[in-house]
Amino acid sequence: IIITNTNLNTGTETSARANNRAFDELRNLKIEAGVLERADGSAYLEIGGNKVLAAVYGPRELFVRRLMQPNRAVLRCKYNMAPFSVDDRKRPGPDRRSVEISKITSEALTPAVFLEKFPRSTIDVYIEVLEAEGGTRCAGITAASVALADAGIPMRDMVVACAAGKSDGNVVIDLSEVEDKEGEADLPIALMPRTGEITLLQMDGHLTGDEFEKALDLAIGGCMKISEEQKKAIKNRYGE
Ligand code: UDP
Repeated sequence: IIITNTNLNTGTETSARANNRAFDELRNLKIEAGVLERADGSAYLEIGGNKVLAAVYGPRELFVRRLMQPNRAVLRCKYNMAPFSVDDRKRPGPDRRSVEISKITSEALTPAVFLEKFPRSTIDVYIEVLEAEGGTRCAGITAASVALADAGIPMRDMVVACAAGKSDGNVVIDLSEVEDKEGEADLPIALMPRTGEITLLQMDGHLTGDEFEKALDLAIGGCMKISEEQKKAIKNRYGE
């Protein structure tokens, strides 16, 4: 049986997404701030089958002299997938992918943080993926922002991340693991909602110019919705 729905991108009938989601529908999202006692700030985020914890320590003294910046703090991010987070056991320890995601996470968050207020210091962000189902880098960045806010780190804005891409010939938002692996393209972005400044844009696969524009619009729309949930998580913890 082929289930069809109307693709609002083109107005044409297309195959429905595997889980019956509309092309612009995010997976179920839950964000909670302040879930860890010992971290200075923390957050737990679920989106679809992804479960992600973020913990923030600092600002604190940076002992590694070669990394030290005389006029600002450094923001160090470490993304890690638990061995039990994926179907095939993930070999513990860093690999090419986790080093890349740690780097782009740090780059996505850095423009939002007033690092110049903390010379010679470090702010350390740890992202632990407990369960993965496609889109963990975006989930990690979104959770890390909430954890930074929970730690009271002064920021210009709370960075938020969301991906769009192409699966089964359709441009869709927030790809699941199957859509990511079997799909034609994945376009994760991060931005600062207040100014719209994009702090991360990656792409793998192939999109035409038009498809790229559509995917970017979808991802930006997703970021705006997720941003509201980030704010709610902070309000729930600290009140209005
Ligand atoms: N994945 C996996 N094993 C791995 C790495 C990734 O099963 O070692 C899965 C996981 O569900 C992840 C998805 O593949 O979310 C897509 O991974 P990708 O590298 O595109 O990053 P992500 O979409 O998680 O940011």
